[in-house]
Amino acid sequence: MKTTFMKQLVEYSWWSCMNMGHRHKTKEAAEACIAKNSRPGKFKWSESEMREMLRLYESGGATTAAIGTMTGRSQSRISQLLSKARRQRDRAARGQAA
Ligand SMILES: [Zn+2]
Repeated sequence: MKTTFMKQLVEYSWWSCMNMGHRHKTKEAAEACIAKNSRPGKFKWSESEMREMLRLYESGGATTAAIGTMTGRSQSRISQLLSKARRQRDRAARGQAA
């Protein structure tokens, strides 16, 4: 028996979420991935938004966990952002006093 060169083209299909590293098997999974990656938590807060969150937190209106759930961020990330907002506010207060 002699050998014969063979060639087969394979079609590969997937649902795209526009992340080139992802190949989702279902439309639902791709849509969920898109929703997850476009949640508000991915966007940067403005200084006024950070002050608003700090005000809410310091007045006892929300815990770091609640703000995290609301904005799609982890509790530890919220703590970091609140510290940053506090520093900005303190810096602004010192600036006005001087
Ligand atoms: Zn994806």
